[in-house]
Amino acid sequence: MNAAITLIREIDALLPQTQCGLCGHRDGCLPYAKSIVDGEDANKCVPGGQPVADALATLLQRPHLQAEASVWPIQVDGRPQRMKAIIREDECIGCTKCINACPVDAIIGSGKLMHSILTDLCTGCELCIPPCPVDCIDLVEDLQPLLTPVQRQQEQSDLRQRYYAHIQREELRREHRKGPVVRAEIDTELFAQFSSAIKEVAAIERLEDKTKITTAMDAKTTIELAKLRTQIKKLEKQLSVRSDPAKQQQLDQLQQRLGEIQEL
Ligand code: SF4
Ligand code: SF4
Ligand code: SF4
Repeated sequence: MNAAITLIREIDALLPQTQCGLCGHRDGCLPYAKSIVDGEDANKCVPGGQPVADALATLLQRPHLQAEASVWPIQVDGRPQRMKAIIREDECIGCTKCINACPVDAIIGSGKLMHSILTDLCTGCELCIPPCPVDCIDLVEDLQPLLTPVQRQQEQSDLRQRYYAHIQREELRREHRKGPVVRAEIDTELFAQFSSAIKEVAAIERLEDKTKITTAMDAKTTIELAKLRTQIKKLEKQLSVRSDPAKQQQLDQLQQRLGEIQEL
C-alpha cells in the first residue's frame, strides 16, 4: 500500500462516515480525506466537530483550528447533536426518491407504498430531505446515550461498508437506471482504488469492468429472482386457502424485494 493511501486511510478512520457532504465534498468522507492529504484544512467535518478537527490536527501535526460550526447545539462529547430523520408516514406518497438519496441505505419501501426509516441506521445526514416532493421527512434529536469510542469505531466501520455497498449498486445501475435519479453520480474512481488497497471494505468495481460485473450480477440476480418467484407463488397459494398475517407479511417483503431487483 502506498504512503498516500495509508494516510488517507488513517484520516478516513477518524471521520464520522456520515457521508453528508457538509465538508464541501459531495461524495463524502473519503474524498475529503484525500483532499486533506493534498493540503486542504482538516477542520471542515461538521458532524465530527472539534474532537475530529483536533484528532486530525494531531495526526497530521498541523496547527489546531476551530471546527466548522454546526447548526445544532454541541453535545457533552464536543460533537454537534446527533439527529435522526423520520418520515410522516401518512403523508408519504411512495415516490421512492428518498431511497436513492440515502448514502447508508437506511430507508425501506417500494413504489407507491409508504416508506420508513430504519432509525438505528440513520445518521441524520439530511440528504433524503430535499428530494422529498411532499416534504414529509422531519429531523428529531437522537436521544440514545452517546457512543463510547469502541461503539463509534464500530458504527463508522458499519457506515463505511453500507456506503460502499450503496456506491457499488449505484455504479451497477448507472446504465440501466429506471428509478428516479436524485443524487449526482458518485465519482467512483477514488473509492475503487481505496477499496482495492484495504481489506476492511469490499472492493468496488467500476463500470469499465462491466463484462465481469454484469456476468456476476446476472447469474446472481437470475438465481435470486427464480427463488423469490417460487416462494411468492407458494405463499400466494397458501394465502388463497387461508389468511395468515405472518405469511402475508412475508409475502409483502418478498414482493418488495422482487420489485427492487427488477428496478436494477
Ligand atoms: S461526515 Fe464529515 S467528512 Fe464525512 S462527508 Fe460529512 S462533513 Fe464530510
Ligand atoms: S434516512 Fe435520511 S437522514 Fe437518515 S441517513 Fe438516510 S438520508 Fe441521511
Ligand atoms: S421522498 Fe418523501 S414522499 Fe417520496 S417516498 Fe420518500 S418520504 Fe415518501
